[in-house]
Amino acid sequence: MQIYNSLSHKKEDFIPHEAGKVSMYTCGPTVYHYAHIGNLRSYIMEDILEKYLRFTGLDVKRVMNITDVGHLTSDGDTGDDKMLKGAKREHKTVMEIAKFYTDAFFSDCAKLNIKTPDVVVPATTYIDEFIKVIKSLEEKGYAYFAGGNVYFDTSKLDNYYVFGDFNEEDLEVGVREGVEADDNKRNKADFALWFTKSKFDDQELKWDSPWGVGYPGWHIECSCISMKNLGEYLDIHCGGIDNAFPHHTNEIAQSEAYLGHSWCNYWFHVHHLNTTSGKMSKSKGEFLTVSLLEEKGYDPLIYRFFCLQSHYRKSLVFSWENLDNAKTTFNKLIAKIAPIAAEPSGDIDKAEYDRLMQSFNDAMGNDINTAQSITCLYDVLKSKASNATKLALIGEFDKVLGLDLIKKAQESNSSDESDVPAEVMELVEKRKEARKAKDFALADQIRDQITALGYEVRETRQGTEINKI
Ligand code: AMP
Ligand code: ZN
Repeated sequence: MQIYNSLSHKKEDFIPHEAGKVSMYTCGPTVYHYAHIGNLRSYIMEDILEKYLRFTGLDVKRVMNITDVGHLTSDGDTGDDKMLKGAKREHKTVMEIAKFYTDAFFSDCAKLNIKTPDVVVPATTYIDEFIKVIKSLEEKGYAYFAGGNVYFDTSKLDNYYVFGDFNEEDLEVGVREGVEADDNKRNKADFALWFTKSKFDDQELKWDSPWGVGYPGWHIECSCISMKNLGEYLDIHCGGIDNAFPHHTNEIAQSEAYLGHSWCNYWFHVHHLNTTSGKMSKSKGEFLTVSLLEEKGYDPLIYRFFCLQSHYRKSLVFSWENLDNAKTTFNKLIAKIAPIAAEPSGDIDKAEYDRLMQSFNDAMGNDINTAQSITCLYDVLKSKASNATKLALIGEFDKVLGLDLIKKAQESNSSDESDVPAEVMELVEKRKEARKAKDFALADQIRDQITALGYEVRETRQGTEINKI
């Protein structure tokens, strides 16, 4: 299997440290607001990666943090505290906010068939671990105390900008936005490991430490939570592309300084979901959530399907029109699977099974090419193999794709015509008339409208059959 590694900027064979096992770390959400569907694009694609690694027989242990302290509104050390801002907005305590949005996050993940990682750690439960690592960095000469805070000294590293895509100028962003530069820092790139001098006197969450009462910086949490649960050698670390700098760059700096050797071999970055006006972002305030999709009548799995139609290393533009197209395609796909699920007859055709399985593995093993894997699904449907063969393959592919393909097809087979909404029935009648008038182009157009509403219409010897998809 090959994966693109942001460290080397190329596709590489994926070889875990320990044969048969994979240690995987994912940056979790900052729980001061609902996750938007951009955040969830990252989690969907990481979920696919995890599922595919398991599919190939690897034993994956996946760990994720929950950022409930320390993340400021800039990804550097400037701006307000995101958690505190959320608490003020909703007149709640920081911990109430964290609990509420952590639950909301996992509920959204469940709707999108995103598996919960094996270990989930809220940053506030690991304070002792952060202090231990920061103390060690100080003893090793990688950290210094200045103006009440502890900073990581990036000048001690030969190569701080490990990903090679970023430079000193990227650090100026916060300053350009009118945020004061931090004079305590010896070097521009240095970052806070522990704060005691906060600009926020009302910071609710503070802990005792060797440097005084304070709270951790954002970056240290991921290094510590990963090392504590996955050991000194991490196979693969995931996150959205915006996390590569400074967050992941800082994670690497402090983990390798602490361990004295290289830490993580593969970096998997998911590119952004954009709207027509730019990156979807929580801090901009206006963003789309899973609940909003549901309110507008979209099954959350339509959004998962929409994400799978494009490669994770390309930015993806969200529009309602694009989502509608995904909905129509998905519903048509389910409509094609329905008769196979209704009658999975015949023997398994081993040669055809192996051929189609191989093409799925070729797609997914080529840097998680999900769009190609969906093409493989259509190849199964087009194949001359028995229904039993097709259904077995669809079931296997769906272990990775997570689209509930067979369940939805079965539901569509068992739905009752009396439940069909009037709007759909009206279209069915119009379609009958179009067919009678031999206007097949119109009939097909109406069928697409019916499909978009989540119904499938089929002509059988017994008459017109209408099923929910
Ligand atoms: P946050 O909750 O802000 O810490 O972000 C959670 C995850 O979502 C991180 O891995 C981010 O890199 C990722 N992310 C943020 N915005 C987007 C976006 N528009 N598209 C895809 N991923 C994103
Ligand atoms: Zn992280």
